[in-house]
Amino acid sequence: MKTANDFRLSVNSAEQSSGRSLRVVRARAMGWCFGVRDAVAATRGEANPSSVTVLGELVHNADVTAELAGRGFRSLPGPGDAGAVRTAAALVTAHGASRGDLARLRGAGLRVIDATCPLVRRVQEAAAAFAAEGRFVVVVGVPGHAEVAGVVGDLPEDRFAVVRDAASVHPWPHDRIGVVQQSTTDPATAAAAVAAVRVLNPQADVAVVDTVCKPTRDRQAAVRELCATLKRGPGPATVVVVGGTNSHNTARLAALCEAEGVRALRVAGAGELDPSAFAGVRVVGLTAGTSTLDAAIDAVEARLRTFKISPPFVHELSNTEQTDWRRWTAAEWAACFQANGVRRDDPAGPGAIPWPCPAGERRPTLSAAERAATLDSIRMFQLGESGTGRFLQRCAAAYVAAGGDPDYPAALREFLAEENRHAAELGRFLDAEGVPRLQRGESRVAGAFRASRRLVPASRLGLEWAIVVLLSAERVAIAYYAALRQATESPALRALCRNVLRDEVRHLRFQSAQLAALRVGRGRVGRAATAAAEGAALWGACAAAYLAHRRVFRRAGMGWRAVRRRARASV
Ligand code: SF4
Repeated sequence: MKTANDFRLSVNSAEQSSGRSLRVVRARAMGWCFGVRDAVAATRGEANPSSVTVLGELVHNADVTAELAGRGFRSLPGPGDAGAVRTAAALVTAHGASRGDLARLRGAGLRVIDATCPLVRRVQEAAAAFAAEGRFVVVVGVPGHAEVAGVVGDLPEDRFAVVRDAASVHPWPHDRIGVVQQSTTDPATAAAAVAAVRVLNPQADVAVVDTVCKPTRDRQAAVRELCATLKRGPGPATVVVVGGTNSHNTARLAALCEAEGVRALRVAGAGELDPSAFAGVRVVGLTAGTSTLDAAIDAVEARLRTFKISPPFVHELSNTEQTDWRRWTAAEWAACFQANGVRRDDPAGPGAIPWPCPAGERRPTLSAAERAATLDSIRMFQLGESGTGRFLQRCAAAYVAAGGDPDYPAALREFLAEENRHAAELGRFLDAEGVPRLQRGESRVAGAFRASRRLVPASRLGLEWAIVVLLSAERVAIAYYAALRQATESPALRALCRNVLRDEVRHLRFQSAQLAALRVGRGRVGRAATAAAEGAALWGACAAAYLAHRRVFRRAGMGWRAVRRRARASV
């Protein structure tokens, strides 16, 4: 008989691949815009780099920043402190600078290399014209962004407001308002903000100049087309967005994908691609922010093409488990679960979860779109995974009393301990996100599963029925955790899902083996009735789970049929 030590043998990945590589579809417009290209060209033409200070990030691109530093360019955080420049020349980036800052730089005797993008200058001029007309200026953009700072830098403190979106628009005590947009604002966000300005300021004459730049529009339109194409294709729709972590337009492209219901994976370069993030993906979209070099995009595409299409979730079981599980005794299952617990508790082991903060503390990692799609659902699963399993234990005792395997209750206890570990990990994740856990009685789905397990009184038959219901829930859980893993970029949640998926496969096998033991000697009619009951239970579990968790499934690109297919194919 195997013991817990036997199960501590190294695990091997049973991840299968079809041998075919991911197909990559590029957005028709992406990357490098002319404003960024010209700014970079201005530095490349500079004969004496160490005599030039770059005022801010030339572009939001770590490679370009490193190249400039390597060539000897000095840098300062922005154009606002002329006195801090220690070189003969200062370079204003494509994001621009206010006229006041430019005057102070020139007044300090510096040679100013002005790489301001002409389309940023257009935003500055529109804002200045509104101010000259006596209008209160509203800039739709990111407060504190270098471009926005340049646009409002010459305006008196009480004569402008910067709003990120419609939600941050206020009523203002002015009868003339002028609205401009940061050049990389999403046109839909800009339109909503303008509408909000009009609604909340009915007394005002509101004038608008559309200052969203054409390269931004083209890239955003292209990403919408790309999302539509991917959603019609096979597998979960996923777009890789290449760009710097602090690039506003890269963030906008990712947010647009999310708004279209397509998962966006943001990377700064090929080295950040994680093959496991593409499990189940067949066709991947590719786009890039306006600061991204062609070479970086090409490198990401080349690496993506080396990834093989893999199944939607990873089973990582030992060779022994892959082949022998149908013959295991209850004692062997108990040992297997114990060994798994030891592996999971190892903070340096392969199952370690990269928690963003200590237990009980709060540090959210989910994006707004991820929160909206997943948190309610995670709360339900957290409640569903918890529980003492008293009814199951009573059934197990009845089974032993009727001559069943005396080790079965111990195996069941270890199994329940694993379920409760899942609940604890999901609970810790919810704590970190600052979301309260559900209490018993607060989830109708969890309550329905619990009640349906108890339809047959505690007995050998009651145990069989409870396992049938449990098995259906485990199968649906495999589809669910695979979808949840696809639906998030949070490293902690992805690792948590990976662990649960591996455990659930074992749970499924444990329950299947026990059902087989309970049904030994059953005739053809009995087996047919059993199969029909199992089919009905699985259909019901899929329907309930799909209704309750459809936002997660949809975000992962899984419709009703895909959920049923995944649940049926789980063992
Ligand atoms: S994104 Fe638009 S405004 Fe900004 S540098 Fe490029 S072209 Fe100019």
